[in-house]
Amino acid sequence: MQFFDTHTHLDYLAQDLNLSVSQLVDNAKKSQVERILVVAVFAKNFAEVTACSRAVPQHIVYGLGLHPLYIKRHQRTDLDLLEQQLQMQDPYCTAIAEIGLERAVAEVCTSELWQKQCEFLEAQLQLAKRYDLPVNLHSRKSHEQLYTFLKQAKLNKTGVVHGFAGSYEQAKRFVDLGYKIGVGGTITYQRANKTRETIAKLPLDALLLETDSPDMPVFGFQDSPNRPERLMVTFDTLCALRPEPPEQIADVVWQNSERLFGLGSR
Ligand SMILES: [Zn+2]
Repeated sequence: MQFFDTHTHLDYLAQDLNLSVSQLVDNAKKSQVERILVVAVFAKNFAEVTACSRAVPQHIVYGLGLHPLYIKRHQRTDLDLLEQQLQMQDPYCTAIAEIGLERAVAEVCTSELWQKQCEFLEAQLQLAKRYDLPVNLHSRKSHEQLYTFLKQAKLNKTGVVHGFAGSYEQAKRFVDLGYKIGVGGTITYQRANKTRETIAKLPLDALLLETDSPDMPVFGFQDSPNRPERLMVTFDTLCALRPEPPEQIADVVWQNSERLFGLGSR
């Protein structure tokens, strides 16, 4: 079995743990996590994110994007910077990430900032289309609005709704539009009933695994930064929720991930 952690902030994890990116990858490999996608949050960390991939290119691909939670900081010129990076057509840049909508934090939902969130999402979906890249999407309390944007954007490569939490109906609409559902640490918590039921019922073809390291800690490790190797805790929970045997789950989820974000997916 081999695994693909399809959403991480490895540049932050390296800082938090004071470890090199290759040390982080060595630890991940001990748990069969062979591939990692590192995503950006603002223009300032584009260089760090790119450097993560350069450090261990056979195991790390990356995505560049402007995260909705930091909407206040983003300048219009950051979108130009993003496009300049994309013009380089680096084969290791396999996603526009992390982009999306945030409605769970009041501070970024004033009418002015909400409008800015929508503009930046729209602009980045256009870039995804222009550069034929899939998107790695953040969505909190905004599935309905995000769905409307995705439906209009009609992206060729689609993408994933990362760290999904929500109902089966919400997930199914994204899946019917060709998007994957990112399964993260949320399902390791017994109390996340609705999301666990959703993940149990969706087609296996629709699922990707991720940690969101150093965020979204898995159950039992709430007090320390999350790490790619803890993908296995989420995988074990996924296996307990699903009817298929573990080998089949691992194989299908690996294929889903490689096809969407792997090297050579461009
Ligand atoms: Zn993230």
